[in-house]
Amino acid sequence: MIEKELLMIPGPTPLPPRVVEVMTRPIINHRGPRFKEIFKKAIEDLKELLNCSGDVFLIPSSGTGAMELAVDNFTSKGDKVIVVANGIFGERFHQMNMARGRNSLSLNVPWGRAAKAEEIEKVLLANPDAKAIFIIHNETSATTINNIKELSSKIKEVSNCLIIVDAVSSIGVTEIDMDNWGIDVVVAASQKGLMSPPGIGIVAASQRAMEYALQKKSETYYFDVKGWKKNVDLDQTLTTFPVSIFLGLSEALKMIREEGYKNVYERHIAYRSLVRNSLKELNLKLLANDQDASPSLTGIYAPEGINADDIINAMRQRYRVEIASAQGNLKGKVFRISHMGYITSNDLLVTISALECVLKDLGYNEIELGRGTKKFLELRRKFEV
Ligand SMILES: *Cc1c(COP(=O)(O)O)cnc(C)c1O
Repeated sequence: MIEKELLMIPGPTPLPPRVVEVMTRPIINHRGPRFKEIFKKAIEDLKELLNCSGDVFLIPSSGTGAMELAVDNFTSKGDKVIVVANGIFGERFHQMNMARGRNSLSLNVPWGRAAKAEEIEKVLLANPDAKAIFIIHNETSATTINNIKELSSKIKEVSNCLIIVDAVSSIGVTEIDMDNWGIDVVVAASQKGLMSPPGIGIVAASQRAMEYALQKKSETYYFDVKGWKKNVDLDQTLTTFPVSIFLGLSEALKMIREEGYKNVYERHIAYRSLVRNSLKELNLKLLANDQDASPSLTGIYAPEGINADDIINAMRQRYRVEIASAQGNLKGKVFRISHMGYITSNDLLVTISALECVLKDLGYNEIELGRGTKKFLELRRKFEV
């Protein structure tokens, strides 16, 4: 049997052959001139992608490491911080802040919808001493996207706090404009919308955030931005770098530039529309509401009487399509299909068709087979993706 699977999970995501190819090249000296040249270009590409006139750092870690770097460097022990939590990753930022001795207040927003500007305004007005606010751009667990542009403009009206955004599953999927939206810190990672393997954390910081971080008392060594800053100014890294993964990331950034940022963002919007409309045709209930639904992935409630994990297992065993379970108290009730990164509409077509067959086999008789697929094909013609 041929061992080939269709990877439709929200990270790590599939790798383009070009990315795989550069990663098979011999290791180069991470302090040598060739590395420096590629490194400098990758940092420039990321600054352009995020419209960041400040600094961009790459660190050997997963996205969670980048989150922790943000807490350690852009806030201080004892600071009051606000965390907007509408899913697992918001909760993670809250726990991280508490673990690092911050006085963290969590603004809990129900899973499935975005945070509203008014609710954030209210918390900030009640806590004028808050030094930073943490928001997840795309909440992968709840499959929703927060409108960072709108939220940050409201935050700026009422507070001077640093705005720290987790963009792990939105970078390379949807627009992030740090300079114009007034975002101070963006944290991200290599393995989701950026079509690269896991292993590199990304931190982008505004000038204001850097001024703060460079004068504050260090709370860590490995994740201390002071050390990374000295090195990035010389086009190199503080520690030994995962060179192969980095070569993959730099190639993927090149590919995203070539496709064009706007085209990349529009493609993800089209995927969201294709997937959501086909699933609605199957009378399936979606986790996120239409207005706040993520362009990166879609969460779906399993039909009454069917366990979501049985759907996931059947998709794997019968069709070799890997989809994801939900986290927290949605486990068993919800499954998630990712459509971010190196995904084609053909991949989505197979996924939707397989899902229809799996649901039928598991006893979901509400729909006639092929209805979702038909809708998918109709819409695909319209979107030309
Ligand atoms: C995946 C993800 C993370 C965590 O990234 P790891 O690389 O698994 O540490 C953080 N935030 C969001 C929104 C994510 O989707």
